Amino acid sequence: MNAEIIAVGSELLLGQIVNTNARFLSQQLAGLGINVYFHTVVGDNSDRLKSAIEIAENRADLIIFTGGLGPTKDDLTKETIARHLGKELVIDQDALASIEFYFQRTNRVMTENNRKQALVLEGAYILPNDHGMAPGMVVESNGHTYMLLPGPPKELEPMFNQYGSQALSNVTMDKEIIVSRVLRFFGIGEAALETEIMDLIDVQSNPTIAPLAGDGEVTLRLTAKHLDEKKAKELLDEMENTINQRVGEFLYGYDNTSLIEEVLKALKTKKLTVTAAESLTGGLFQQELTAISGASSVFNGGVVCYSNDVKQQLLQVRQETLETHGAVSEQCARELAENASKIFNTDFGISFTGVAGPEELEGKPVGTVYIGIAKKGRPTIVEKLILGGTREANRNRAVKFGCYFLLRTIKESQNAN
Ligand code: ATP
Repeated sequence: MNAEIIAVGSELLLGQIVNTNARFLSQQLAGLGINVYFHTVVGDNSDRLKSAIEIAENRADLIIFTGGLGPTKDDLTKETIARHLGKELVIDQDALASIEFYFQRTNRVMTENNRKQALVLEGAYILPNDHGMAPGMVVESNGHTYMLLPGPPKELEPMFNQYGSQALSNVTMDKEIIVSRVLRFFGIGEAALETEIMDLIDVQSNPTIAPLAGDGEVTLRLTAKHLDEKKAKELLDEMENTINQRVGEFLYGYDNTSLIEEVLKALKTKKLTVTAAESLTGGLFQQELTAISGASSVFNGGVVCYSNDVKQQLLQVRQETLETHGAVSEQCARELAENASKIFNTDFGISFTGVAGPEELEGKPVGTVYIGIAKKGRPTIVEKLILGGTREANRNRAVKFGCYFLLRTIKESQNAN
């Protein structure tokens, strides 16, 4: 099966907004094992939309439209498709009731235009809109499947995730169940990971394997199809096991998790606590940790120790360390992590010191980073990194590496216990 995405909206052609819907849908369809061969953008013009549909019908089985489902005159996606397919537009009573309820609830007057949003193609399978008014829909005609989705991403994305992807598998795939799982890796580059599993990628069919790299992480989305959901999951388990035998040491989590979430989870599970002494990262680690609800069970506080005075006075880094080795040094990272852990009486102390850039510091090049991980009763680990990015990238990347090293140490100490 192959698909084309048609984004409708003159504002896209004028460069006023970016076609993020096509990006989102392509990612989701790849996850479902559906090939997207074309993205089309067309303005709010019925004739040009009709010709875009005709072109798409010659090269795609599934055509997904985004935008133009609203109440105004230039919203003409439904009307154009209805005319093209020779179908009527009929009021969907559920959608109408929810639009009326929305106006009652917000004490606003509903206009005749808003009724238009409850119009759907006759015979269509309806995708409820839990975050807006216009419902989405899926209709089949002449061997093609047409899916209509609203323009606003905050409506389109949950609609597709909640109802759209399952509707596609129901309508178009002989009732096969599609299950997917994202494996998240850190500490290994995309090229290295792909090399390790190249033979699996070369012969992939069910499950499919889709690698994606970004923000220093690599993910593999595994997607399996089967009439029996349990069997589909077994296919995923088998493939995951094979992959893990080769690169499992870099796997840190699944689906939408993040390194910091995994750190929090691991600390909570073991009832362990952490503090941080942050120079390079200026509180970024602590900000990310406390952005997750429930962080208070593992974190009481920490220090942003940007200047040498604070490093010395609050965190008791020795003057000799700063004079002999500098603030950006293995010794300083070690003392920061150990002393923070003692002062805050926590199981773990993590420290970040380095040169974010753009200027070098203490004769050390931009991107030099030391991360200390102190754990009561175990030797402190200090990792040195040489990162080559911008100031912002170096700080963000340092936090990710810090989380990765911390996670590894928590897991090792779990195993040792
Ligand atoms: P509404 O009921 O809000 O009018 P609609 O389904 O008619 O929704 P449009 O009017 O085409 O959708 O677009 C509404 C808004 O959705 C746009 O102003 C834009 O912010 C966003 N949008 C539309 N299409 C896209 C797209 N392809 N990518 C990202 N955002 C989009």
